[in-house]
Amino acid sequence: MIFVRFEKAGVVQIGSIEHEGMIRVLDGDDFASARLTGDTVPLANVRLLSPIARPRIFGIGSNYRHVLKEMNVSPPPRPLVFTKPWTAVVGPGDDIVFPKGSSEVFFEGELSVVIGKAGRRINKADALSHVLGYTCGNDLTERTLQLAELKVGSMVLSKSFDTFAPLGPRLVTDIDPSDLTVVSRVNGEIRQCGHTSDLVFDVPTLIAHISDAITLQPGDVIMTGTPAGYGPIKPGDDIEIEISGIGTLRNHVVVE
Ligand code: MG
Repeated sequence: MIFVRFEKAGVVQIGSIEHEGMIRVLDGDDFASARLTGDTVPLANVRLLSPIARPRIFGIGSNYRHVLKEMNVSPPPRPLVFTKPWTAVVGPGDDIVFPKGSSEVFFEGELSVVIGKAGRRINKADALSHVLGYTCGNDLTERTLQLAELKVGSMVLSKSFDTFAPLGPRLVTDIDPSDLTVVSRVNGEIRQCGHTSDLVFDVPTLIAHISDAITLQPGDVIMTGTPAGYGPIKPGDDIEIEISGIGTLRNHVVVE
């Protein structure tokens, strides 16, 4: 299934796409339990939103082998987990705001997992049955602040500026998270071309690890880390994160 959340004439709804270009409107706001209303609306007539409105976001750092090899560091012994607030979430087509006073902001294209079924201490073998689907994410980072934060052992504020968590454009179910290509472009130029088979900790391992401590809830999002090639952006740039089988998340960078 392909799910979208969208706004039309000020009304926010969810829907599914079976034929390109046409949304079949669903009732309610929960993809997992929603039913078709019988209404359809052309994709061209709506503004797509982040598939999840106010997700808890778990981010994962240092999770691609290729990146670690380039930096000549060994893989972390356990997943490096941080969080991003829902207030950082924007949707496809929304602006990324380059904070006033910042000198360096990095984009990071990432496969983002959306949880569909709650669970605590989920086994790796069962983990994918707790997934609703997958979307594209951009884990934006204020780089100067990140390096300062890491010196005191944290990584929170640098990841959490408003607009620093674009998600979308759609949520796709029933794809294999271990076999996806993650491509990022800045102003049309390819900067990242990674594959999720290169993840140090795969999606089932991340779900098992996080749910050891926290009951995962429907709508939670896990941003799985970024492949090699992430780097600086500036106001005026157009950023695209494209994941095979999902689509392309596009955002423009503006100055605060
Ligand atoms: Mg990241």
